Amino acid sequence: MREFELIERIRRRAGAAPAGVAVGIGDDAAVLELPPGHQLVATTDTLNEGVHFFAGTAAGDLGHKALAVNLSDLAAMGAEPRWALLSLSLPEIGPGWLDEFMDAFLALAGRHHVALVGGDTCAGPLSLTVTALGVVEPGRVLTRTGARPGDLVVVSGTLGDAALAVQQLENGETPLPEALAALLRPQPRVALGARLAGVASAVIDISDGLLADLGHVAQASGCGAEIELERLPCSAGLAALPEARRWPLLLAGGDAYELCFTLPEERSGRLDALRDELGTALTVVGRMDEGEAVRCRAGDGTLYTCDRTGYDHFA
Ligand code: ADP
Ligand code: MG
Repeated sequence: MREFELIERIRRRAGAAPAGVAVGIGDDAAVLELPPGHQLVATTDTLNEGVHFFAGTAAGDLGHKALAVNLSDLAAMGAEPRWALLSLSLPEIGPGWLDEFMDAFLALAGRHHVALVGGDTCAGPLSLTVTALGVVEPGRVLTRTGARPGDLVVVSGTLGDAALAVQQLENGETPLPEALAALLRPQPRVALGARLAGVASAVIDISDGLLADLGHVAQASGCGAEIELERLPCSAGLAALPEARRWPLLLAGGDAYELCFTLPEERSGRLDALRDELGTALTVVGRMDEGEAVRCRAGDGTLYTCDRTGYDHFA
């Protein structure tokens, strides 16, 4: 396909621009209308073949994940997703690949009322960049900086599944279905993020691993944290693994796209209502304190040192 055909195909698939999009795909740039009294929240994330996904990953899985990881960042800010831009670097590809990619991208976009309003298309190694834009009312934005000693540390869903799938694929094993689903089709916690204003004191999404990401919250908030290993929420597949393999996956496994938030203890009663309303597991895994960085305590009371902290592209 030629570049023009490709863009035309994307534009057709994206459909008519909804209210709030004054100019969508087709001009030099998109023009968007912010709802009165809202702030714009902007984030961008890239997926590169061989770095973020295995060569040969299905187009649909890539279309879903390229958007999902960005919606996860908006969720962690408490923003309501609105618009996305899609920058594609593609080797020779056919219409079948593009349609499968767009089906999954637009299905996830539709579920979150996100309109595709522009992007860029060029030839090169397979690389997918999405810029996601959302809106939030001033004062309702959630950041990494508000945690205080004594606050509870809460995580949504389960941890370590996506990292387990990566490990299994690298070892040439057949990944567990639930682990593979976590890796390929993460579900961004947008509804949870939207409910955390006035509840959480700090929020982050877990993309690099709990230790690394909670470490960012601790550092940004000027406190430390202690995690209780036995409390970390994990799937049945992960629970069946020996501790020596399970704990590093739970603590340092990347690609989880769950939210980690801190909660002043007097608001801990809000967790039950949130669980009921959202149908999402929310597990208290530790507490912020005045100590150094993030420490992990085993069931017998001893401190556990994880040999990895999280994913670092330049390590
Ligand atoms: P320009 O040369 O002015 O940068 P392009 O030819 O790159 O314009 O793009 C033409 C239009 O198509 C623009 O509105 C752009 O936002 C949109 N577009 C290009 N690639 C994509 C894509 N992958 N997804 C969505 N919109 C795209
Ligand atoms: Mg361009």
